[in-house]
Formats: sequence, structure tokens, C-alpha cells
Amino acid sequence: MQRIMITGGAGFVGSHLCDRLLKDGHDILCVDNFFTGSKVNVSHFFNNSHFELMRHDVTFPLYVEVDQIYNLACPASPVHYQYDPVQTTKTSVHGAINMLGLAKRLKARIFQASTSEVYGDPEVHPQPESYWGRVNPIGPRSCYDEGKRCAETLFFDYHRQHNLDVKVVRIFNTYGPRMHPNDGRVVSNFIVQALKGEDITIYGTGQQTRSFCYVDDMVEGFVRMMATERGFTGPVNLGNPGEFTMLELAEKVLMLVGSKSKLVFMPLPVDDPKQRQPDITLAKAKLDWTPKVNLEDGLKETVHYFRTLLST
Ligand code: NAD
Ligand code: UDP
Ligand code: UDP
Repeated sequence: MQRIMITGGAGFVGSHLCDRLLKDGHDILCVDNFFTGSKVNVSHFFNNSHFELMRHDVTFPLYVEVDQIYNLACPASPVHYQYDPVQTTKTSVHGAINMLGLAKRLKARIFQASTSEVYGDPEVHPQPESYWGRVNPIGPRSCYDEGKRCAETLFFDYHRQHNLDVKVVRIFNTYGPRMHPNDGRVVSNFIVQALKGEDITIYGTGQQTRSFCYVDDMVEGFVRMMATERGFTGPVNLGNPGEFTMLELAEKVLMLVGSKSKLVFMPLPVDDPKQRQPDITLAKAKLDWTPKVNLEDGLKETVHYFRTLLST
């Protein structure tokens, strides 16, 4: 049994990680400022004496005693991270410095939830970890992309300079129950629109691609990465290589919901990547990890979640 801190633990992915690590018998300290996360996501643990919830903003120092840290705190959807872009950069950069300082004092293993956005709008396809990316430093997505890139720099410098035990994963688009219904991400948008009978909003032509990983598969990848030997730092790509256009995704959602919603075409957001697919060769080799849940099965679970949410 370990004392494990999860920053951003009340968010979409973080709350599933709480589920998993509690089930594995650990003590969890969930740290969150509830910017995009919610107490409701973790309220089913409130009677569990192995779970503790702390309201805290990681841009401020934090003094606690734990054995391991998963650093997930950061808004992840373009709508939310662009709402207060300066705070987004602070969360990634100051948040990383504080959590790395904490890990250094405790000599604790620390995990960073990085992102496929470090590859920007890529010219290499699919993206291996060795690809350095093509990121606009001054655009509307930069607060997130560059913040996460700088956080990776900090993780690797704390590793080299202070011999810190770091684990960095680059997460590709992840979906599942407890996604925020209004965060503007494509999976939640399409499902909510289909369930409400509203128009499905396709940005651009809908020919851009993404690869969608179900949240349970992602969490399994996190746990496996955290269990690797000291000195294996990553970065490791985690994502489902199945690649779909947004039009294909819309068709699947309409079919699963049984909805007659119409497709409407809207302008493509600035710097929207045209294609994205993880090369997961390294995750397969080092973590013996491949995603198990196909898009249709994962979407069914997610539709079920939103159907229940919208009816209450
Ligand atoms: P989310 O928005 O649901 O979760 C982020 C959590 O961090 C929320 O609970 C939020 O309240 C909290 N938070 C934000 N700023 C904070 C701060 N300053 N201090 C403390 N808590 C703060 O998003 P998610 O999808 O669960 O993403 C979790 C992590 O995974 C993020 O770091 C994100 O960048 C990364 N990631 C997610 C995806 C994805 O597709 N879901 C893809 C790539 C990377
Ligand atoms: N820090 C923290 N908790 C700790 C130890 C450090 O929040 O238990 C913060 C501290 O505020 C500092 C940052 O982590 O600003 C980086 O710490 P580090 O020891 O690397 O740097 P220094 O304190 O020497 O600037
Ligand atoms: N998208 C869309 N309609 C929506 C929301 C998003 O067509 O209602 C598109 C968006 O332009 C992008 C893709 O879906 O090309 C994925 O968007 P999301 O915000 O989910 O993730 P990210 O762009 O960060 O990968």
C-alpha cells in the first residue's frame, strides 16, 4: 500500500485513476481546485477512509507527505484552457515546479500527464516519441501546448539535475464517462448534441482525424508506466491507434444514439491539427500495453453515461 497523490484527481481522467488506485489498495490524496473537475466525480469515495480530498491550486506550493505523485492538474479541453490562458500556462509550469519540488523533498516517484499536443500540427504521421513537434508558440492553443512542453522540460531537468524519479506519458485524445458535458471536446459535444436532437457541429470539413482511447485503457497505461524500473523516464505515447475522421465519429455517434440530428459545418478553429495518431511501439515494448476497448464499445459506455446525466 502506497500513499499516492493525484493532482487534478477530481477531473475526468483523474477520477478514474482514483477508482483504479483505491481498488488496488492504495491511500489516495486527491488535490484539485475544481476549475474543470468536480466533487461529484469523486463523491462516491467520500465514505472511504482511504480517500482524502483537498481543495488546492497547484500553482501554489504544497507541503504534504506522500510516496508517489501523479500530476494531472490542468484543464484539457480547448474551451477550458483558452478561457484563462495565463492561468493555463501557470498551472502547467508553476504547477510542475511545485510538484517537482515536493517530489524532490520526498524523494518520491512523480508522473506527468503530458499530451499529444506537444507534437502540434504534425508533419510526421503517426507520431513517435522521437518527433519534436510543430507547435505555434504564439497562437490560441500555445498556452496549453507550450505549457505542457515546458513542463516536460522541467521534468527532464529535475531528472538530470536532481536525479528525480520521473515518468512522463504523452496522452492522445481520451474519452469516456465523466467527461464534462460542456467542455467542447468532440466526443462529449457530438453525444450531447445527438441525445438532445440538436445539430452536430462539424468544424471545418470534418476530414481531420483523431485517435480516441477509452479512459480505462488509458488508466491501465498510467499504472503500468508508474510500475516501470527507476531510470525509465519516457516519454511514452499512450493512445489508441485507431484513427477516425470527425465525420466518421459523427456517423458512429448518430448510429449508437439512434438520433436524427443533422450535421452542420462550422469554421475550423485556429491551429487545429489535421491529423493525429499515436505510434505506440514503445508502450507495447516497455509496458506490454495495448488498448483493449474499441471505439464503438467505448462510445456505448459514454452514451450511457450522458443519457443518465441528461435525464437527472
Ligand atoms: P479535466 O479538465 O477533466 O481534469 C483536469 C483537472 O485538473 C480538473 O479536475 C481541474 O479542476 C484540475 N485543475 C486544473 N487546474 C488546476 C490547478 N491549478 N490546481 C489544481 N487542480 C487544477 O481533464 P482530463 O481530460 O481529465 O485531463 C487530465 C490530464 O490529462 C490533464 O493534465 C490533461 O492535460 C491531460 N490530457 C488529457 C487528454 C484527454 O484527451 N482527456 C489528452 C491529453 C492530455
Ligand atoms: N515546494 C513545494 N512543496 C515541497 C517542496 C517544494 O511546493 O514540499 C515548491 C517550492 O515552493 C519551490 C518549488 O517547489 O518553489 C521548487 O522546489 P525546489 O526545491 O526544486 O526549488 P527551490 O525551493 O530551491 O527554489
Ligand atoms: N470538433 C468538431 N466539432 C466539435 C468539437 C470539436 O468538429 O463540436 C473537432 C475539432 O475541430 C478537432 C477535433 O474535433 O479537429 C477534436 O477536438 P477536441 O477539442 O475534442 O480535441 P483536440 O483538438 O484537442 O484534439
